[in-house]
Amino acid sequence: MASVRQLLKVFNRMHDPMYGGCQCGNIRFVAHSLLDNPHVCHCRMCQKAVGNFFAALVGVPLKDFAWTRGTPATFKSSALVERGFCADCGTPLFFKHAENKHISITMGAFDRPEVIPLEFQLGMEGRLPQIDQLAHVKDDGTTEEADAEGTPGIKTSNRQHPDHETTVWPE
Ligand SMILES: [Zn+2]
Ligand SMILES: [Zn+2]
Repeated sequence: MASVRQLLKVFNRMHDPMYGGCQCGNIRFVAHSLLDNPHVCHCRMCQKAVGNFFAALVGVPLKDFAWTRGTPATFKSSALVERGFCADCGTPLFFKHAENKHISITMGAFDRPEVIPLEFQLGMEGRLPQIDQLAHVKDDGTTEEADAEGTPGIKTSNRQHPDHETTVWPE
């Protein structure tokens, strides 16, 4: 099996820009390459920052990264670290260490998070027991099956930005 390093090398060589943004679409970004460090951080600060079990992040060299729509709001979670999010919808978007020449983007904010392979995990002292429970909890089916009545109403009034670039938004 190809390693993450090999996969990302191929990806970066293909030079297909990776787009992404927040849920409401007021913030959009483009990444022209990715570092070979896609990871999840289990530390308690990352849990709080994303309101979840862990933060999934991948580094993008600053020279290869741009905000293409809007500017994220920021919170300095410590002297050296700034975390960014959309002030309108709250989507967590980045982690930036002052001394790094890269910005770490939340993987779920990419339009195609499924193509970014994971390389490692860290912050193990904060790793929550739910991560292991996930492999064993009952499979309740897809949302569309489980909530067949509610889903159409959500679909027709969905204000989430689609997983591709838009020239005009909201439509
Ligand atoms: Zn937003
Ligand atoms: Zn962390």
